[in-house]
Amino acid sequence: MDKAREQRTGRLVPAEEIGPDPEPFERPLICLHCDSVVEPVRGYKSVPSLFRLAKGTSHEAGCLLNPTEVIQSIAHGSHGLAHVTDDGLLRLELPADISALPPWPTMPIDDTDTDVVRTHNTTTVRPYLPPAITSAAKIARFLHMHGFDPKVVERFRVKPHGQRPILWGRFCYSPRTYADLYQRCARREPISHPIAVHGTVHSIAQDRNGKPYARLALDVPAGDTRFHVLLRSAHDSLIKPLTAGTHVLAVGDWTLFDTPHVPQLRLFADEHWQIAYWETDPTTGLPTEPICPAPVTARQRPDAEARARTRRSRPAREPRHAPAQPESITPPPPPALAAPPPQAQPAAETVLPESELADEPAVTPPHPEPAVPDAPTQPPPVPPQPPFPPPPVPPLAEPAPRRQGWRRWFGRRP
Ligand SMILES: [Zn+2]
Repeated sequence: MDKAREQRTGRLVPAEEIGPDPEPFERPLICLHCDSVVEPVRGYKSVPSLFRLAKGTSHEAGCLLNPTEVIQSIAHGSHGLAHVTDDGLLRLELPADISALPPWPTMPIDDTDTDVVRTHNTTTVRPYLPPAITSAAKIARFLHMHGFDPKVVERFRVKPHGQRPILWGRFCYSPRTYADLYQRCARREPISHPIAVHGTVHSIAQDRNGKPYARLALDVPAGDTRFHVLLRSAHDSLIKPLTAGTHVLAVGDWTLFDTPHVPQLRLFADEHWQIAYWETDPTTGLPTEPICPAPVTARQRPDAEARARTRRSRPAREPRHAPAQPESITPPPPPALAAPPPQAQPAAETVLPESELADEPAVTPPHPEPAVPDAPTQPPPVPPQPPFPPPPVPPLAEPAPRRQGWRRWFGRRP
């Protein structure tokens, strides 16, 4: 836990107060949400201090930090995707289509309906988060309340579709582990499942074209370098609900984007359900329920699809893993940039064994990327033999399915 209370005074004690001698707080300390006694645990190096239950105690029934209850509650609300194991762990299964919605008696998401009227306060179509994302967001929210205590993180597992279960920390990265994801991407480690990044929005910035993007972290140290963690989208509406201080879980194809300045660990979100977000209630100090932005409308989509087709029609002059494109190019990276290395690109139904709980998978040794000139923003006059001829579809027709970004994990367009 990153906060506790003095039992006698009720004063809130943040974990940052742990360390000095004499202690600036009065013992005993109790849980923020129940009367169970907790102990300060001093951090070391990059591991922050936190509070942990005193030996032999447990959170009271009904406490928001009670792992057993929360685990059961998440499993109960997961529509069969999260299971409590015999060891008391919670294992979240990622379905083949992580965006799938269960057959609830609710209004379906209809992102082709451009007549949906949304005002500041009302939405006629509530965007529902898929249960896999909702469950992941609830777990992330719970771990955040625990200050990402490794002992609590240890109680969660993820089972990517068709693969072996992996540790929660190999699926979801939080501020304490951003550098681990950076290193995985820098090593070009094959990752054959969606990755979730959880964090709190540091600030909203705009690129040179005025498109907003969310900065989750800036200048994160990783070895002898530093990097930024950015959440971007070709659809402004996916970023606009976010403000500084919003908690976010962003799921998809996180990639490392090299720039001449600071490398960027980033996600280009294509769909609303890739972004779950919640706030801290200012009166109670408690996190609110995770929600997501409104679905991208058909009216928004043709623009992005047309830009993607334009990019696809270019001759393939770039290597599969070209480094930075300039900040001014706002749409998601072309397939050549978003695609994984050949060995990481499974067929839709391929079952990939993953030995993540045993040994770390073999990694490709890092090698520097060749510097390439900036990609043109317009197609050249005479494109020789484009690898992906632009489909002759009218602008408002259903666009051809793309197998970039998160869709590369699935066999069909949701
Ligand atoms: Zn408690």
